[in-house]
Amino acid sequence: MKSIVIGSGFGGIAAALRLKAKNHNVTLIEKHPDLGGRARVFKKNGFIFDGGPTVITAPYLINELFELFNKKPENYIKLTPLKTWYRFIFEDGSKFDYSGDEFQMKNQIEKINKDDVKGYEKLVKFTKKIFDKGFTELADVPFDKPLIMIKQLPALLKLKSYKSVYSLVSSYIKNEKLRRILSMHPLLVGGNPFTTTSIYGLILYLEKKWGIHYSIGGTGHIINGLEKLMKEENIDIIKGHEVTNIISSGNKIQGIKLDNQKVINADNVICNADPSAVYEKLLDIQKFSSSFMWKKKRMQYSMGLFVYYFGTKKTYDNVEHHTIKFGEKYKEHLDDIFNKKKLNDDISYYLHRPSATDKSMAPKGHDCFYVLVPVPNNQSRIDWSIEGDKIKNLVIDKMEQSLLPNLRESIVEDFYLTPDYFEKELNTKHGSGFSIQPKFTQSAYFRFHNKSEVCEGLYFVGAGTHPGAGVPGVLSSAKVLSKIL
Ligand SMILES: Cc1cc2nc3c(=O)[nH]c(=O)nc-3n(C[C@H](O)[C@H](O)[C@H](O)COP(=O)(O)OP(=O)(O)OC[C@H]3O[C@@H](n4cnc5c(N)ncnc54)[C@H](O)[C@@H]3O)c2cc1C
Repeated sequence: MKSIVIGSGFGGIAAALRLKAKNHNVTLIEKHPDLGGRARVFKKNGFIFDGGPTVITAPYLINELFELFNKKPENYIKLTPLKTWYRFIFEDGSKFDYSGDEFQMKNQIEKINKDDVKGYEKLVKFTKKIFDKGFTELADVPFDKPLIMIKQLPALLKLKSYKSVYSLVSSYIKNEKLRRILSMHPLLVGGNPFTTTSIYGLILYLEKKWGIHYSIGGTGHIINGLEKLMKEENIDIIKGHEVTNIISSGNKIQGIKLDNQKVINADNVICNADPSAVYEKLLDIQKFSSSFMWKKKRMQYSMGLFVYYFGTKKTYDNVEHHTIKFGEKYKEHLDDIFNKKKLNDDISYYLHRPSATDKSMAPKGHDCFYVLVPVPNNQSRIDWSIEGDKIKNLVIDKMEQSLLPNLRESIVEDFYLTPDYFEKELNTKHGSGFSIQPKFTQSAYFRFHNKSEVCEGLYFVGAGTHPGAGVPGVLSSAKVLSKIL
C-alpha cells in the first residue's frame, strides 16, 4: 500500500512511522528544507532557537514511535523532567511556582487563599475524571461517525463539557489569581480559557500524570531523532518541495503533484498540513457537499502568535525555564484577541529560557530565549510589517520592567515571527497558531475528521483534526490514523 504524508510536523512524522510499522510504502513530503513544522529550529550564531513546542508532556507518546521498531528511545533522544513547570507572575509582582510537588502547590495556594486548598484538591480529582474519559478513552478513537459522538454525549454532559475551563475552575476556586493559573491550559492548544470546553481541563491532570519534560538539545533534537529513525526504516523523505495539488478521480484520491510538476501516485494521502487550507487550496472545492461546506465555513480559528526569539550577551540566572506573565486585564485581552481581533497593550506573555536547563542552547555566558505573545490571527487584517516592531518593543519594555532588567542593551541576536509566517510559510488558514479552536462544537466528531468526510483515500493528522493541537494531541491523531488505515 502506497501512502504519502504531506507535512513533517510531529503529527506527520508520527503518521509516517505508524504507517511504516504497518508495512505501508511511505513517502513524507515537506515544503521546507528542514523537518518539524511548528517544531522547526532556527540556529543563529551559536544560539539554538526552538521554533515552537517547548513544554513536553506525555513523553510515552514519543517513545512509542521508537518502540514500534524495537528501538530504544534513549539512543535517539534525551528527555529530562523539570522541577518547576511554570513560574506565574502577576502585574503586582507576586509569583507562583507551579509544579508536580503537591505539598509546595498547596502551600502556595494556602498563602493566597486558604479556602481554595480544598477546592484545588476537588478540582484535581475532577480533572482526573475528565482525563480518564477525554484522553485515556477517547484521544485515539476515530470520530468519523455521528453515532460514536452521540454515544459519548451523556458522559460528556456529566463531566460538564458544556462549561468553559475557566467556569469549571471557578466552581472550585474563589481567588482570581488561582483561577487564572489553573485555567490557563487551553492557551497551550490555541483556545480561550473563557470559551474552551472544559474537556481541555484534562491537560491539568495530564501534566500531573507524566510531568513536564525538556528535550536536551531542544525540541528540535526530538525531530532529529525521529528523522534518523525514519531514514533507518526506509521512509522516503522529500524536503524543500510543496505539494500544490492533490489529484483525484471523482471522489477517490489518486496521488499528489509537487511544485516541480512531479506527480506521485498513491493509495492514500495523509495531510499533516492544515485541513482548511488543504480543502481550499489543494483540492477542487466545488464538488464538496453543502453540509461539509457549512461545517468548514462555521469553523472558528485559534489565535495568532507573535514569537520574538532573542539571545543575550549575559545570563539571567533567576529566570525560570518557563515563565507566564499575566497582564492586568487578562479577560479583556483575550476577548480582544479572540473576538474583537484587535491588539491590546496590556499583554500577557510566555517566556521560554531553555538555557536555564541546557547550556548548549546558547554560547558560553549567553542566554537563549523566546517570548510568545498571543495576538489576533490574520482575520484581523493587521499589517504585521508595521505592528511587528511595535509589539517587539512593547514586549521588551514589559520584560525589562518585570523580569529582564536592561534587556535591550544585552540583546545580541534576534528575530520574530508573526501570523504572516504561520499563514505564508506553514500554510495555515488565517495564520492561526494552532489551527481551529478547541471549542466543544469543534471537538471530536465536530472537528475535521481523521478520515476525510468528503474524499476517499484522504486522511488528516495534526492540530486541525481529532483530538487537536499540542504535541500529545497531534501524536494521538497519528494513533487514530493507524486504527483506520
Ligand atoms: C510558538 C508555539 C509554541 C508551542 N508550544 C507548545 C508546547 O510547549 N507544547 C506542546 O505540546 N505544543 C506546543 N505548541 C503546539 C504544537 O507545536 C503544535 O500543535 C504541533 O507541533 C503541530 O503539529 P502538526 O503535526 O499539526 O504539524 P505542523 O507543525 O503544523 O506542521 C505541518 C507541516 O506541514 C507543512 N506543509 C503545509 N502545507 C504543505 C504542502 N502543501 N506541501 C508540503 N508541506 C506542507 C508545513 O510546512 C509544516 O511543516 C506550540 C505551537 C507554537 C506555534
